[in-house]
Amino acid sequence: MMGEPAQKLGLELIIQTPHLEDPAVGIAKAVVYAEVGDAIATSRLAAQCDVIGFENEFVDLPNLKLIPHQENLFRPSLQSLEPLLDKYNQRCYLQELELPNPQFWLLENPNQDNYNFSYPLVLKARRHGYDGQGTIVVKNQAELITAWQSMSSGSILGSVLGEEFIPFTKELSIIAARATTGEIRIYPIFETQQEDQVCRRVFAPAAVSQEVVLLAEKIITTILESTKVVGLFAVELFLTETGKLLVNEIAPRTHNSGHLTIDACPTSQFEQYLRAIAEQPLGEVNLQTAGAVMVNLLGYAGLDQDNYLDKKQLLEQIPHSHFYWYGKNLRPGRKLGHITILIPEVNSQGMQEQMRAIAHQVESIWYS
Ligand code: ADP
Repeated sequence: MMGEPAQKLGLELIIQTPHLEDPAVGIAKAVVYAEVGDAIATSRLAAQCDVIGFENEFVDLPNLKLIPHQENLFRPSLQSLEPLLDKYNQRCYLQELELPNPQFWLLENPNQDNYNFSYPLVLKARRHGYDGQGTIVVKNQAELITAWQSMSSGSILGSVLGEEFIPFTKELSIIAARATTGEIRIYPIFETQQEDQVCRRVFAPAAVSQEVVLLAEKIITTILESTKVVGLFAVELFLTETGKLLVNEIAPRTHNSGHLTIDACPTSQFEQYLRAIAEQPLGEVNLQTAGAVMVNLLGYAGLDQDNYLDKKQLLEQIPHSHFYWYGKNLRPGRKLGHITILIPEVNSQGMQEQMRAIAHQVESIWYS
């Protein structure tokens, strides 16, 4: 996703990935073949780069800190990332900043009597969770014990984060970049819809009050300024029935909810991130269309190269659509691509209904 904007900005990309078939390999000037968490390989990468950015947070921070002269090498800096990589530490950090958090507990054993929580409880692996992998909602002690066994056995830390279950009415996402000058640019707020903890669709703009927008902007500004980040963060939020906004989590990188910025905003989140870390002026972040819908295209059993092409053709016939295919290996449940449909003007249905109808149309084609 950064390949195109990098070219536009005159930047050369060198990537670290263990996979020869990684889609980014094709657009990179050079490749360091190693796991993203391999800090020794990152020191080899550092020797070839002016700046190192991150596409995900699965890095080995203690060992990255050993790389010499890294004060301006990593963007975000390792100090900015430090409180955010572990979900429990991140919750503690949000609490220190007095930002609205669900209640949370560090669970070192699955015995409810040792803690003061009630069910349902959301269990989260402290590290390496994504797309809901590592997040389990449990409704009673028996479920907690089963989930505990599957989660803590794989966790080096031996503990898991437990969170109050928030009965949200909407999930929202806000994305913003901060430059070396301290300038901050915040994208409009988006609504995200998850199923089985996986993001399925994103609506822009979110239908929320101006008060909610301002609060979300204040939350992300506090986070960007307190971490002094140079780069781009997304903050996932829960909106409750009473209009309360709570932070779900901070993603210290470009985010799935921001994919629609490629087509709906003058500057995509990917370009903006590169601009921030390469010390180029930040770009405009307004929606340049009345609305936009992004639908993730997930793999499913029975999807193959042939029916994929038929579906692609049908999806591309939807007016104002922009289809993206990542070239990953097909696997059920995997995010294989996405489609963004721009809505130039509101029709008699109203924007919300129009967005829902478009998402439904896409999903009926894709999953039929
Ligand atoms: P990941 O980092 O894997 O994306 P998240 O922590 O964002 O995992 O959780 C994935 C989804 O699970 C969220 O988008 C939300 O739908 C649901 N979820 C997470 N935490 C809570 C919570 N405390 N209360 C209710 N639902 C939650």
